[in-house]
Amino acid sequence: MDHETPRRPVERHQEAVRDVVGRALTAGRRMVQVPVASLLTPAGRPGAVRLTAADAVAAADLPGFDNSQMDGYAVRAADLAGATASDPVALGVAAPVPAGTQPPPLLAGTAAPVMTGAPVPLGADGVVKIEDASPPVFPDPGTPATVRFTAPITPGTFVRPAGSDVTAGDVLVPAGTVLGPAQLGVLVAAGVEAVVVAEAPHVLLVSTGSELVRAGEPLGPAQLYDANGTMLAAALGEIGCRVTHRIVPDDPAALRGVLTRAPDDVALVVTSGGVSAGAYEVVRQTLTDAWFGHVAVQPGGPQGLGTITVGGGRQVPLVAFPGNPVSALVSFELFLRPVLAAATGSTPAHRPAGRAPLAEAVDSPAHLHQVRRGRLDADGRVVMVGGPGSHLLAHLAAATLLVHLPPGVSRLEAGDAVDHWEFR
Ligand code: AMP
Ligand code: MG
Repeated sequence: MDHETPRRPVERHQEAVRDVVGRALTAGRRMVQVPVASLLTPAGRPGAVRLTAADAVAAADLPGFDNSQMDGYAVRAADLAGATASDPVALGVAAPVPAGTQPPPLLAGTAAPVMTGAPVPLGADGVVKIEDASPPVFPDPGTPATVRFTAPITPGTFVRPAGSDVTAGDVLVPAGTVLGPAQLGVLVAAGVEAVVVAEAPHVLLVSTGSELVRAGEPLGPAQLYDANGTMLAAALGEIGCRVTHRIVPDDPAALRGVLTRAPDDVALVVTSGGVSAGAYEVVRQTLTDAWFGHVAVQPGGPQGLGTITVGGGRQVPLVAFPGNPVSALVSFELFLRPVLAAATGSTPAHRPAGRAPLAEAVDSPAHLHQVRRGRLDADGRVVMVGGPGSHLLAHLAAATLLVHLPPGVSRLEAGDAVDHWEFR
């Protein structure tokens, strides 16, 4: 297609995807209660990125009991009133309190060795750290001993009171929070066993192309591995989608068959390949309810978007990407990732953006928004990784930046500033 043909601006297609996909996912979103333990999968695995859909409430106080902030002596502050260096207070040493033991009440006139995190005995109201005691070492357990203190303390010193972090019934993690390590940690600590989360959207991912072979199977002449299937499944999984993946040849009946047999709960269909102007464009020729056209972007010009019928007649959004691998992943980054990230609660919803000077001059087609692959050099300048070709998958894998060369720009010189997204 030449550049005289009207092309949809990138921003308009981004809005269109948000309209069609964002709306459908929000409307169809189901809430499920899941055990906290089931969320403890490594980040980036399908379903690992979860957004709470209801407030999670503490089941218990945190801390659960008054405990010591120091290794030291639990004391009654009143016993130390008037202690000075020249006139220290001597107390009998009670049985030590290691972590995980419940001590007896502290008798007046005694001090109990207490370890960090261990319960402060009933009756004690402060802890003197071991370095401030005389002698500054604990006596052997079981041997009668005396310890001297040379200064008074205020009640509460080095005591972490029960409930000082969280009180049972407090909202621990409000609805709409991404469950990262710290959130999962506090849920476990406060005894919460299950949380309500938005169900991960189930995406039917279809790689189209009669030349495609599933990874790991033998490759015949003129065949190639389905890189897009793995790449897009990984990208979808990373932002919290569940993926069912199929490969279909360039045969409308095969594509229709896969859509008819789509799992019941599919929320979105994503395809790769078969959308451009060639003769075997299975997606464009089969899914005639959808819009197919060109977006003013390179790579990723040919795009499809719409609502299609799957299974027993359910209407779901379709996002159709071109087949060239770099086009497919760049299209995902530009159009779909932000919408899905917002729906699943993946953060950041947008790739971190930056601006830096070019290390070298670049040319770009003036009528297109060109997205190049790049990285920063040691001086913080943007270097291109490979050329603009949309088949250069190894360069995509080596790059750390997507570099934006906006429409209207035909050449930028070394030192000119460019916008980039970190995509790794
Ligand atoms: P298409 O958009 O179907 O015309 O495909 C454009 C180019 O991308 C062709 O060279 C295809 O062989 C290649 N291609 C299509 N799908 C895939 C895929 N899933 N993995 C790797 N390359 C692909
Ligand atoms: Mg094809």
